Amino acid sequence: MALEGIHHITAITGDADTVVDFYGRVLGLRLVKQTVNFDDPTAYHLYFGAEDGATGSVLTFFEYPGAAPGLPGEGMIHSITWRVASDEALDFWQARLRDAEMSVLRGEGRLEFRDPEGLACELVVDESGEAPLTASFAEVPLEFALQGFAGVRAYAREPQLSEPLLTALGFTESGDDGRWLLKGERRSATLRYDDPPLDSPRPGAGTVHHVAWSAADDAELGACAEKANAAGSRATPIIDRDYFHAVYFREPSGVLFEVASRDIGFTVDEPEDELGRSLKLPQQFEQHREQIEQKLAPLTNPRADG
Ligand code: ZN
Repeated sequence: MALEGIHHITAITGDADTVVDFYGRVLGLRLVKQTVNFDDPTAYHLYFGAEDGATGSVLTFFEYPGAAPGLPGEGMIHSITWRVASDEALDFWQARLRDAEMSVLRGEGRLEFRDPEGLACELVVDESGEAPLTASFAEVPLEFALQGFAGVRAYAREPQLSEPLLTALGFTESGDDGRWLLKGERRSATLRYDDPPLDSPRPGAGTVHHVAWSAADDAELGACAEKANAAGSRATPIIDRDYFHAVYFREPSGVLFEVASRDIGFTVDEPEDELGRSLKLPQQFEQHREQIEQKLAPLTNPRADG
């Protein structure tokens, strides 16, 4: 068994409306789930991704209203990379992001920008040959749509410390730029470590909380937890997140890893054509729905049809 690249990525926002507008409208992803942070039900947990919420496409945000801007540093993911189909797609995004008054940096086969809270994002022309994981949004022609994650970049001063764990989890060294590849049968993703800035890391709005790698089921989660523990990390027990099961551990460079299962999915509590339209709560909070809804500001979904 091999992990199938990225399952999802979770970041922090200080304002749910801002991420709904940026990821759900400007970037054209679909809001595929509105729920709460299972560890803090007064906070939104919003999921954006491909039309069907496919694993490998989903970026999620915990909302902490008014959270101070964070600063990625040692032991944190600092950049998210998505795939697009072509240089023409990069042209499209360059124009669309400029129209949205965002500054962009175009390179060979890539486009870099920051989201409205400063999170570094990058689009690269896909060379993986893997199935595109796209959302269909009226303002973004399908051939230009984001196609799921290519990978993430993290800061680490001594990334070699992570080598035994990464190898145990199935990552292989790829290229000479410190990039690691996690490749399963159908999907792959990269993890690259960069030298950290001198400033102390500061979790907050616009920073990534964790990256989740994609496992088949509980058996694979258990095996990953054992490997993490054997490499000196401390994995949590398997936790039920309703849409997947997960284990969490901090890898030796300090980055919070999750391994999440693919065997449940986002249609477990609403059909695919209604994904993300209404607030879904885990069963343990359903009895408090009224109080929870009072604390959460309603969202404006950029899709007219929800
Ligand atoms: Zn997660």
